Amino acid sequence: MVNQKLIDFIRDTYASSDFIPLHAPSFVGNEKGYLAQTIDSTFVSSVGKFVDEFEQKVKFYTGAGWAVATVNGTAALHTALHLAGVRAGDLVITQALTFVATCNALHHIGANPVFLDIEPIAFGLCPDKTAAWLKEYAVLDDAGSCRHKASGAAIKAVMPMHTFGHPAQLDELLAICRQWSLCLIEDAAESLGSFYKGLHTGTLGRFGVLSFNGNKVITTGGGGMLLCQEQADGAKGKHVTTTAKVAHPYEFYHDEPGFNYRMPNLNAALGCAQMERLEVILANKRKLAERYAGFFQGSEYRFVREPDYARSNYWLNTVICPDLESRNVLLESTNAQRVMTRPVWQLMHRLPMFSDALRGELTHSEWAESRLVNLPSSPTEV
Ligand SMILES: *Cc1c(COP(=O)(O)O)cnc(C)c1O
Repeated sequence: MVNQKLIDFIRDTYASSDFIPLHAPSFVGNEKGYLAQTIDSTFVSSVGKFVDEFEQKVKFYTGAGWAVATVNGTAALHTALHLAGVRAGDLVITQALTFVATCNALHHIGANPVFLDIEPIAFGLCPDKTAAWLKEYAVLDDAGSCRHKASGAAIKAVMPMHTFGHPAQLDELLAICRQWSLCLIEDAAESLGSFYKGLHTGTLGRFGVLSFNGNKVITTGGGGMLLCQEQADGAKGKHVTTTAKVAHPYEFYHDEPGFNYRMPNLNAALGCAQMERLEVILANKRKLAERYAGFFQGSEYRFVREPDYARSNYWLNTVICPDLESRNVLLESTNAQRVMTRPVWQLMHRLPMFSDALRGELTHSEWAESRLVNLPSSPTEV
């Protein structure tokens, strides 16, 4: 039975007989020192040197043109959709297998998702099925805008997600976006440290979004980052995530509704300290993934490796069980022994608020939903 051996293996890996979480943050660097500095300086809120420094660090690391820090990843997704010109009633193509935050952002802007299938390698939005869906159900109107044939609704963007940190097939999706004049927004919330053909995820689309929630690769407590490639987008991103105030020595003039989504300096201080340790964290996560891969070798459980075109951060280690029954037994036995494992999210169209959304056929999403299990993934040596 793989289950007891797996539990022993995980306990041995973490050298722990206590509860083993799915992904725990670690604060062994300058976190406390930088937090104390923000308090001593009184600049704890949305203005302060750590916010600028954190943006610069993430911009430099990812190679993005512009980086705008936000209160969380959902807020950054909402901002990206707004800047992409997505408005109430528009359609946005995304994957049925994702974390609910992707679709919550669509809800907040008033857009409707179109749920398409994933490919079975990286679990990202499937380019072939996206192209096929557009060919059948969409048309370019006289102005060159993409419209849903049946309803006439504008289709504005394609929003793939880099599932568990594995980069989606971006070249193919970018080509589709060019052909249909759609904006590519990468939900890179899970993929800080993941590279697609040498480029950091979130920097190939016009917009990319990172999350620094407590369970992600590094954390700011709560936080997100909007990555933009064009200067105009970066400037607008900063403008709307604050109060949209027009610069003036003393007058208050705001030229559009602002979101007030800026990340506080307190959170950015944590982020700066975490960024200093990102490479070590990534190296240790990679070692852990190698260990899991070795463990599952030769069994009927397939450990998910990075796709051959990418370098993944291995945010959440994942195993594909032979079937639903073995998946359930694995989930039961590990959690009963306080080793935390999780199934993948229920598909978005099964949730009450998204049950009416348009969708394509979802063979691979359903296959993944019934077989994938996430394993404890905190970096072991930190
Ligand atoms: C974590 C996450 C987000 C953003 O989450 P926040 O908690 O708002 O920072 C968005 N999309 C996906 C796929 C995520 O995993």
